[in-house]
Amino acid sequence: MNTKVWKVDNYVDNLKNNPQVVDAADFLRKNEVVALPTETVYGLGGNAESDEAVAKIYEAKGRPGDNPLIIHIADRQQLTRFVADVPHKAEQLMDAFWPGPLTIIFNKKEGVLSEKATAGLATVAVRMPDHPVALALLEVCGLPIAAPSANSSGKPSPTTAAHVLDDLNGKIAGVFDGGPTGVGVESTVVDCTEEIPVILRPGGVTLEQLAEVVGEVHVDAALTDEAARPKAPGMKYRHYAPNAPLFMVSGTTGFLQKLVTEKQQEGLKVGVLTTEENVDQYSADLVLACGRRAELETVAAALYETLRRFNQGQVDVIYSEMFTNTGVGNAIMNRLQKAAGNKLISE
Ligand code: AMP
Ligand code: MG
Repeated sequence: MNTKVWKVDNYVDNLKNNPQVVDAADFLRKNEVVALPTETVYGLGGNAESDEAVAKIYEAKGRPGDNPLIIHIADRQQLTRFVADVPHKAEQLMDAFWPGPLTIIFNKKEGVLSEKATAGLATVAVRMPDHPVALALLEVCGLPIAAPSANSSGKPSPTTAAHVLDDLNGKIAGVFDGGPTGVGVESTVVDCTEEIPVILRPGGVTLEQLAEVVGEVHVDAALTDEAARPKAPGMKYRHYAPNAPLFMVSGTTGFLQKLVTEKQQEGLKVGVLTTEENVDQYSADLVLACGRRAELETVAAALYETLRRFNQGQVDVIYSEMFTNTGVGNAIMNRLQKAAGNKLISE
């Protein structure tokens, strides 16, 4: 399959009439899959009401069929078509964070969406992305669009159109190049089917921000307890992994450097994931600064790009510094721990 690339020169013009947007939306209407930029990462979109389109998404990604997809909409009115009820707290969260990096789990109206998109669950995950291209495509095609991250299953999520093509060139109908994405980590997933909302996956919107709007918020036990079964099926899989084994290192920069030196003495090529503040503290084969520790948003934005760069450097092992578990640090640590398969070395 020849993968088409669409692009617009500026986002100021009326995007809905842009021929590139109209063409890409046409592919979506024909049940083809199209990668599109959102404010978090690139998504791989397909008509959520079509088994055919949804099957193509799972197939292109190699995604396990028991891992349901997030449905993207441009207009809240669309909820009435496939959501059974909208609880008050969900309304409040939508008012506060949509469009934006917050996915809400609702009870599903049966018989509208492809069963494959929701992996047969009685609930459905929905969000409204905050990106002009994504919103224009959604509006023009007029469909609810199922869109997981546009990477091969298990790899770091794509934050540029080039990353999408690295993984999926020839496997999808096209990619809409909207430049690098801003937030860099995926949406926060919050279950609103119970009285007290529960965070199933940390992401772009923090627990603190949610609590400000709806009061008490719970966190799925599986996020802190490895033995617990996650309520978001996707959270049980290893994700975001670079090719080389990755270890989280808890300790001083001197301790991390000692690990590097030991491995180099064994003849291995070693990578270090650090931030701009500490980049001069290490001598390794590939030392990559992932944003600035003092501004965690910059770490989130650079995270997947950095993980992919270790693949280009062909290192044999990677050691990563730790990050604080508060604010967006929570999502950063969640993704790094998954990428590391929970391998941790403590001083
Ligand atoms: P991704 O699209 O790859 O960023 O992942 C979407 C995440 O949302 C995965 O962890 C899914 O398992 C989770 N998810 C999607 N739909 C539901 C649902 N109905 N209930 C719980 N988790 C869901
Ligand atoms: Mg993903």
